[in-house]
Amino acid sequence: MYNKNAWKKYTDEDKKIVMDFSEGYKAFLSEAKTERLAVREAVKILEAKGFKALKDVKTLKAGDKVYVTNKNKNVAAFIVGTRPVVDGLRVLGAHIDSPRIDVKQNPLYESTEQAYFDTHYYGGIKKYQYVTIPLALHGVIIKKDGTSVEVHVGENPLDPVLGITDLLIHLSANQMSKTAASVIEGEKLDLSLGSIPTEKDGKDSVKETILAFFKETYGVEEEDFLSAELEIVPAGPARDYGLDRSMVAGYGQDDRVCAYTSLMAVVDLDKQPEFTSCAILVDKEEVGSIGATGAQSNFFENVVAELVEKTAGKCSFLDARKAMENTKMLSSDVSAGFDPLYPEVNEAKNSSYFSHGITFNKYTGARGKSGCNDANPEFFAEIRNAMDENNINFQTAELGRVDQGGGGTIAYILGNYNMNVIDAGVPVFSMHSPMEITSKADIYEAYRAYKVFLMLK
Ligand code: MN
Ligand code: MN
Repeated sequence: MYNKNAWKKYTDEDKKIVMDFSEGYKAFLSEAKTERLAVREAVKILEAKGFKALKDVKTLKAGDKVYVTNKNKNVAAFIVGTRPVVDGLRVLGAHIDSPRIDVKQNPLYESTEQAYFDTHYYGGIKKYQYVTIPLALHGVIIKKDGTSVEVHVGENPLDPVLGITDLLIHLSANQMSKTAASVIEGEKLDLSLGSIPTEKDGKDSVKETILAFFKETYGVEEEDFLSAELEIVPAGPARDYGLDRSMVAGYGQDDRVCAYTSLMAVVDLDKQPEFTSCAILVDKEEVGSIGATGAQSNFFENVVAELVEKTAGKCSFLDARKAMENTKMLSSDVSAGFDPLYPEVNEAKNSSYFSHGITFNKYTGARGKSGCNDANPEFFAEIRNAMDENNINFQTAELGRVDQGGGGTIAYILGNYNMNVIDAGVPVFSMHSPMEITSKADIYEAYRAYKVFLMLK
């Protein structure tokens, strides 16, 4: 069903299924506040559904279900197909990192009896959206002996919340005349930690109070922040949005909405796939997909080679290359929903509308499609045929008006393996903000679409 509102096709029973599916999603989103936590939640789901760690399995045959993690920040799940892995996979690839604020390596300081963490933001944020809202702190501190201590503050209703202050309106004459880009400067995004002084060496120090908290609660010293990864994110769970509860409000939906639906499509697949099914969740998309845990890492290729070997008994260099080249993939990533309050940034015929279903982007990029993966029409014809055959609501869009801006995804990186890739995901309002909005109908249609894609010939 091309470009139709999905709510209109649902029976009352369907609506209940759509609402129920979003309960599972909200629970995931509320827990998966960081890429590490997203991996942990994904592994919980996979193990509960009988997926085994690939490293514990010596050989594989059709129907076997396995998963792999990478440095606690990637996870890939597979159902082995009836065809040889060299014939290619059907892959759903989404990212589990989201824009946020990271704690610096030498973070702790005090100023006029207030203690702070110094920070550096991660990914594209409107900095002014991060002040005067309740924030939570999540991450790990790794001690010199290798022990890892987890930090989670701000999600439990009994926890304190943290935050970043803004100037009072009464004294904002200069600030209010600045552009939105500079109204809150990056170095002013420092996190408030406390205000009670402790006496040390005859001097009052709030920093000492905070260090004592970290020592007592986590057994860490100031120097241990050197090998910590602490992320500051909006506090609190995902919620229903709208009087009709038709939408989900929550932090991190770019791209955990596609991560969850892709993962669940593999987990819930009720047929034996011909081609090996895969959902892969990657990190670092918001900063260019670089590094060991980003989509540009060799991780995925190495795992595919391991699958070839564990199913066929051996894997040549060419086998691994053929498996990648023969693969078909959806780069599962969100689209910019057409926001009626800001119609001027979109071109109406080629925009993504809430509840019109999964959105395919033939290309992304900016200024003359620069940097895009422009999917082949032959490939998209196969996909839209499968969508129609399965009565799935879908639409096509590009990211905004020509020359208005733009953005990229992981599609082009996998495209480099000469595989067919197209972007496909859920439309979002207020993308990259602390409270992103999605439609439950789109979430459900994306999940259904991903299942159909896994069975594509
Ligand atoms: Mn994204
Ligand atoms: Mn993004």
